[in-house]
Amino acid sequence: MRSITLTDVDHQIYNTEIKPWLPRRIFDAHTHMLINDCHPEMQKTMFGADDPMLIDVDLPWLQAWWKALLPGIDVRGMVMGYPTTDVITADENRIVAEQCQPESYPFAWLVKPKDDLKQLEADIEQYRPAVLKPYMCWVEGKPMNDSTVTDLIPEGQLALADKYGLAVMLHVAKPQGMGDAENLRDINRLADTYPNCQFVLAHCGRCFITPNAELMVKTLNRADNIWMDTSAVCDAGVFLTVLKHYDRSKILFGTDLVTAVAFRGNYVRMGSSWHVCTDAMVARPSGQAATPQRSTFAAYEGMAALCFALRFLEVSEAERNAIFYENGERLYKRYLTPTD
Ligand SMILES: [Zn+2]
Repeated sequence: MRSITLTDVDHQIYNTEIKPWLPRRIFDAHTHMLINDCHPEMQKTMFGADDPMLIDVDLPWLQAWWKALLPGIDVRGMVMGYPTTDVITADENRIVAEQCQPESYPFAWLVKPKDDLKQLEADIEQYRPAVLKPYMCWVEGKPMNDSTVTDLIPEGQLALADKYGLAVMLHVAKPQGMGDAENLRDINRLADTYPNCQFVLAHCGRCFITPNAELMVKTLNRADNIWMDTSAVCDAGVFLTVLKHYDRSKILFGTDLVTAVAFRGNYVRMGSSWHVCTDAMVARPSGQAATPQRSTFAAYEGMAALCFALRFLEVSEAERNAIFYENGERLYKRYLTPTD
């Protein structure tokens, strides 16, 4: 039996830097399950595979993390499978659908660029996913970080998303993420071409560092069907930039739980790039060691950075409510059962 334990440092960070700015209900717009059997080579293909707290993520385990990290808050969200090179998408998609449907959670369907369109449409009809989720590790024929948006998700799949009014969860490639000129040109054009497709730019357009976010907000169109989520970003400068310069009614709170942010550590800037940093990587035998007693979850680092930006910019309670649940519930309203 696994149990999630919070330290004094976790409680202190949550109670002083996060909780005062949270509403009593949250829609987590970016989460993942991870079914071990669907990732036969996970020990080779993914970060965190050796940590039993981060793998074997069925819906109850995701909910256990919500409960532990956001105690007393009514949380629901949008759930995806976990994109790795070895994932058996047909199996993981079906399991995600079966576990999310009874809870009325919107969920995503992992799609590879070469997936057959007829089969994809049949799956959309049968399982009713709210989201298509491409990922760059499935792009063939070029280094994955050079992928364009339509390398990740070809226009035939976008046309299906448009036909069924689905969202597309985009973790864009390129060293500058959504700050990249070609990505910006593509997303502005595609949002116009496929107006019923809802483009969700994960991780603030995968701008984990401030200069990329500044490039993004200069050129990214404000459009009814372009959204961004806050998941896994741990840099307050990124949040200050998007909250100040982008449309707050299109920003969705998301965590990226479980595997990508439930470790003790952070996502840190290193010059023009960013990297996962766990407490073990920076542990020292003495002094200010980043021991488990002093570090906290990457999920809390991200929430603390977001809440810092919200209070620094004096974002109103109404706008905070929009970011933490109303925007996500508006995007996915036809999949959700109403709450009070
Ligand atoms: Zn994710």
